[in-house]
This record gives sequence, C-alpha cells and structure tokens, in this order.
Amino acid sequence: MVNSTKEIISPSYTSIDWKKIREDFPILKREVNNQPLVYLDNAATSQKPQLVINAIAHYYSYYNANVHRGVHTLSQEGTNAFEASRNTIKEFINASKTEEVIFTKGTTNSINLLAYSWGRKFVKEGDEIMISAMEHHSNIVPWQILCEEKKALLKVIPINEKGELIWEEFLRLLSDKTKLISVVHISNALGTINPVKAIIEEAHRRNIWVHIDGAQAAPHLQIDVQELDCDFYSFSGHKMCGPTGTGIFYGKEKWLEEMPPFEGGGEMIKTVSFEKTTYNDLPFKFEAGTPHIEGAIVLAEAIRYLQSIGLSNISTRENELVHQTTTRLKEMDGIRFIGTAIHKSSVVSFLVNNIHPYDMGMILDKMGIAVRTGHHCTQPLMDFYRIPGTVRASFSFYNNENDIDRLMEGVKKSIQMLS
Ligand code: PMP
Repeated sequence: MVNSTKEIISPSYTSIDWKKIREDFPILKREVNNQPLVYLDNAATSQKPQLVINAIAHYYSYYNANVHRGVHTLSQEGTNAFEASRNTIKEFINASKTEEVIFTKGTTNSINLLAYSWGRKFVKEGDEIMISAMEHHSNIVPWQILCEEKKALLKVIPINEKGELIWEEFLRLLSDKTKLISVVHISNALGTINPVKAIIEEAHRRNIWVHIDGAQAAPHLQIDVQELDCDFYSFSGHKMCGPTGTGIFYGKEKWLEEMPPFEGGGEMIKTVSFEKTTYNDLPFKFEAGTPHIEGAIVLAEAIRYLQSIGLSNISTRENELVHQTTTRLKEMDGIRFIGTAIHKSSVVSFLVNNIHPYDMGMILDKMGIAVRTGHHCTQPLMDFYRIPGTVRASFSFYNNENDIDRLMEGVKKSIQMLS
C-alpha cells in the first residue's frame, strides 16, 4: 500500500482540474449559518481530503496495534506502515536518512524538543539565541524559557514596515556568542517568505546552528533540507492535509546523536535498570511512549496526495488566489495591508478603516466565511505595527474564485455595517 514518493510525477499546471480537486474535501460541501462554507483559515489548519479521512478509518478497521513491540502480525504490519511513513517524509523533505526524521505532535512540540534537548546541552551563560520579530509564539517562548534558565540572551532580528527582515541588522546582531538562529520560513501572520538559505549560509560561516520553523512552508513549498543545509527543521502535519497532533522534527544526524533525550519512557530506551539506563538509537531516542501511530501513517497519505498535485502547482495556484484577493481588496477604500513583502505566500492580512478585526470576523462568520482574526500568536509583531490584530484570509489550493467573490461581498457588507 505504501508507494515510494519518488514514483509520483506531478501533472503540468494547465492539466490540473482544480474544481475536481476541491471535490476531494467533503467539509467544503457543508453550510455554515445557512450559507455554503468559505474556508479561508488554512494557515491555522488545513481541511482533509476524503482519502485521508478514509485512511484513518482503514487504520483502525484493519491493523491497529502498538508499534515496535509485538511479534504478532498486526503489530508488525503497523510497524511497517509507521516506518514506511517515516521514509515517505524523509524523501518529501530530502533528508539524507530516516534516522533524521522524528515524529512529534507538531511544530510547537518540535521546537520544544530542540530547546530542551539541544539547548540544555549546548547553551551556556552569556550565549545568544537569535529569532526574528515575526515569530509565532511557538518560536519565542521555548527560547525565552531556555535563556532565562541559562542566563543567555535572546536577540531579535528587526523587520521593516513591509514585514521583511532587515538584512543589515541581522548581520550586525551576529556575534561570536550567537549559538543558534531560529527563524520562521514563512510568516503565518504576514505571509513573508524569509531568505532562509542566505541566513543559513551566513550562520554556518560563523559555526552557528540554524533551526527553521517550517509550519507554514511545508504545505506550500517544496522543502529540501539538504539543499537548505539547515541543522534543524520543524513542521506540522495538520496544516498540510494530515491529521492533527502530527508533526516532524528534522535534525542532522550528527547533532541528533549528540543531543540528550527530550522525554523519558518506553521506546526511547535500550536497557533500563535502577542504576543506569541506556538510550535507544535514532530516531527512537526522541520518541518516548506510544506514538501517534495512525497520525504518522496517515500523514504519509496526505503527503502523497499533495505530491500527486505537485508542490509547485500548489504554490502557483495559491499565489494566483493571493494576487486576485490583494488586487480586489486594493480597489476598496480604507484597506490597510499588514505584510507587503516582495516574497509572499498564501496569506492576506488586512485591516479596514477603524473596524476591529474581531467585529469583521463575526460578520464574515454570519455569512459562512471563516477567516482568522486577532494576533495570530504573534503578539510582538502586532505590537510592532501598533495594532490589536488583523483579519487574515489564508489560502489553500482548494480555494477558488467564488471564495474570493464571497470574501469581497463580506468585507463590503462589514464596511457598510461597521464604518
Ligand atoms: N509556527 C508557525 C509559523 C505557525 O504558523 C504555527 C501554527 N499556527 C506554529 C508554529 C505552531 O504550530 P502547531 O500549533 O501545529 O504546533
């Protein structure tokens, strides 16, 4: 049942039937407040195609058993599918080995793994950790906790009004105390695509480790960790058509070997006695306890689905939708865009006149339109713009022009009612 991801050849963009692809997502046929659903909250979580929903039922109907433990057939089948999924993900991100692919609960869990395990071993008093002004709280708070404990310093790369990192400031902030740079690949609040490859090159010239928060990048861009040469990369399964509670932490084998375990328990040990415990080999050293077996197996199914459409086709489609939305919003009076970087993906964040984003979100919801309003877990970024939050429409390849029409109607109606 598990194909090699390398066998999947993406179709050409012009041959893709986007209308048919949309039909793969049963939830998009439902109504909300007596209106057909328009789902534009994809940066929070994506919807799931029927094939992914079926795969969850298939797992529990056919070969549910605990992995890596039993000699019985179900356990072996489950283990084979679980490890085949790890291989699919290894190929998807082009890691050099399956040992470098750790299953986690999501990006937040991956970053905490890094901060607790790598941070406790390698960070000393006076060291510096560098993040950026556009980070999600998941890529701020674990580093604050670490820095407080270790008496290390958290430095923040500033951004300009467009929502782009200021390169000269980044270079200026680097020092011989900098231990790690942890930056977001694509900002969930602004859509900015950061120049992560250039950051990694600058960092490695100075022997600084780099972690990339890929939560918003993995669903939209083809990730190649070897080409990027990042030391660590994190992403979530639920934002890329996979189940909730799934995620990946990638690390170069040489660093993972040196890092101590994050959590202790079953699976991550070789031998246990009351005097001494020895730890399991990679990747199991970082996977204590029963994993999210069904989630991991089904995540591979979701990845094969994305690959069958093609990541470059997906990003072309989403860029078109973002472009159309931005162009049409620009025609309205009083729109202020938050995040106007030259390199942008899948997100349109905006405010209208003095309308509170929450109020607009409520009116849009009454019209069946789901957008995210608020600070998007980036409070320091909202402070930078001196705003309470934004209205964020975030796109996936299954959105269409009708969704944009409906959003425009909703924004116009909100302006009439609230201005
Ligand atoms: N980083 C970014 C950029 C995100 O967008 C998110 C999710 N909104 C996270 C981290 C956290 O991901 P999760 O909640 O799946 O752990």
